[in-house]
Amino acid sequence: MTPPPEPLPFPDSLCHRCAAPPKYVQTRTSTFILCPLLPQKYAPQPVRACHLFRPAPPPGSGPG
Ligand code: SF4
Repeated sequence: MTPPPEPLPFPDSLCHRCAAPPKYVQTRTSTFILCPLLPQKYAPQPVRACHLFRPAPPPGSGPG
């Protein structure tokens, strides 16, 4: 997974806690949150409700 950038764009967005997981696309001036599940790829931020949201597993609980 792409590590979250600093500073996090829209820190209160649901996407940051989503198991999708979103990708962070960085340009020189901005960071965009790319959703792998949405047909339109970029949800209007900050996402506060999403029918595709599933909570990401807590850090350290991955396979292995
Ligand atoms: S599924 Fe919804 S909450 Fe999850 S990354 Fe995509 S837009 Fe964000």
